[in-house]
Amino acid sequence: MNETLFAIYFPIWFALVIGTWLFFRGRDSAFKKRWYRRVSAFNVTVIVGMIVLMAIPMSLPFAILGAAMLPLMWIPIYRTRVCLACGKVCQPENLITPQKFCSKCGAGLD
Ligand SMILES: [Zn+2]
Repeated sequence: MNETLFAIYFPIWFALVIGTWLFFRGRDSAFKKRWYRRVSAFNVTVIVGMIVLMAIPMSLPFAILGAAMLPLMWIPIYRTRVCLACGKVCQPENLITPQKFCSKCGAGLD
């Protein structure tokens, strides 16, 4: 376990959470829809990458585990819908079924 990386992991994680929130706050729904998947994929990549780096010199099992987990993280990101009517980010009902209607305003989601 690399203590230096462990110490900077939480500030980076915190910065991603706040940065993502600020990035989407007050933006129009088309902007959110366009950027939601890219920003989410970036966040997952950074977090998994930090975990693999922290595990040096035992990072190979974590790298394999991370690579195995990426599809599981990608599916919910890909299945998440952004409501164009109100801008709400609608998480999938389960891992693979995207919501058909916005839970906030009831508009249809594509
Ligand atoms: Zn809506």
